[in-house]
Amino acid sequence: MKIKKRFTLYNIIMLMTPIILIGVVSVGFLLIFIMKYPVEELLVKRTALINPRIFAEAVGLFFQNNPGAIRIVFIWFAISAGILIFSTTIITMIMSRSIKKPIDNLHRAAEYIRRGNLDFEVLGSDYDEINALCSEFDNMRRDLKYARQLEHSLKSERSMLLANLSHDLKTPITSIKGYIEGIRDGVADSPEKVSRYLDVIYQKADTIENMVNNLSSYSRLELNREEFKFQTGELGKFLLAFCKKLETEFIDKDINLEYEFKDNEIPVRIDIDKMSRVFSNLVDNAVKYKKEGCLKLIIRTYPADGGVYAEVSDNGIGISPDEISKVFNSFYRIDESRSIKGSGLGLGIVKQIIEKHGGKIWLQSDGKKSGTTAVIFLPAAY
Ligand code: ATP
Ligand code: MG
Repeated sequence: MKIKKRFTLYNIIMLMTPIILIGVVSVGFLLIFIMKYPVEELLVKRTALINPRIFAEAVGLFFQNNPGAIRIVFIWFAISAGILIFSTTIITMIMSRSIKKPIDNLHRAAEYIRRGNLDFEVLGSDYDEINALCSEFDNMRRDLKYARQLEHSLKSERSMLLANLSHDLKTPITSIKGYIEGIRDGVADSPEKVSRYLDVIYQKADTIENMVNNLSSYSRLELNREEFKFQTGELGKFLLAFCKKLETEFIDKDINLEYEFKDNEIPVRIDIDKMSRVFSNLVDNAVKYKKEGCLKLIIRTYPADGGVYAEVSDNGIGISPDEISKVFNSFYRIDESRSIKGSGLGLGIVKQIIEKHGGKIWLQSDGKKSGTTAVIFLPAAY
């Protein structure tokens, strides 16, 4: 209820309560009075009562002759005054309490927030205006709590990032050192062995270089330092050229690539280099996380929802539902795939690039061993 409406109601109650109570008391007193002092004792003819002067004289004479009646009138007056004072005090108290309670709540809430406690709820009020203020306050508390949780998770993500990075760099560096020592100490005692050792060293250095490149791209994207050169075109056309190149790469590999593009004449904004990176990372994952046997890879596009959808589906090892939302986090790798080379930054980079295109990306999978589909949505650029 609005403050104005409620205050008007309280005013009516404040007015009516004493009137009704005093009225009831007065009727009681009048009956006592009439029973004790019959009208005949007024010593005046009823018709004369119409004249105010005669009436006043008669009443004065009556009270002179009956001093006990003055006491009754006095008691009536005192009780009526008491009723008036009591009822207005009680109603004023109820009124002020109804306003004071939510204000006290807000005051307490501000105090909690000042002390850093955000685990409470700001209760509402019967007054619409105060209720709106309370819910605004509660929204602010919730936003603060969310910001704090975000800050906390960012902090732990940063620490995880550092821990993973140092671990992931340490592993190839340790093996590079091992192989160099092997050459130096003469363990690689034939030119073939030395060449094999050098190949492994090169491979490990390559892994480190990839990791550093990924990390650099990831942080440049996160810090908005990566420049985008957008051009407007059809995603299908871009992907057709991309798939043609893939086909040549997949010759002699146990990979079956299918593609179908139905997004004709819907232009989207594309940075060709960055978009190539997106699809390369997705295809790279499909290849890395394949099951035994032939990999079936399907890349397709179709128009819907005012834009274009692109899907990269594989029949690989799949992802369980509880992992699917985490794989976009930097350095996140599902435990079983830890043995497979990768920095865990690929999907993080993909997500950032797609978001910079104004789009969205998510993964779908029916769980372990049932394949994965990466779905990308790009809004049309009209
Ligand atoms: P990087 O891409 O940096 O070389 P990565 O492939 O491990 O390393 P992401 O591409 O970010 O990192 O993928 C994160 C994790 O998600 C992977 O480690 C893998 O466990 C899981 N994943 C990603 N794509 C697939 C897929 N198509 N099938 C099954 N699991 C996948
Ligand atoms: Mg990857």
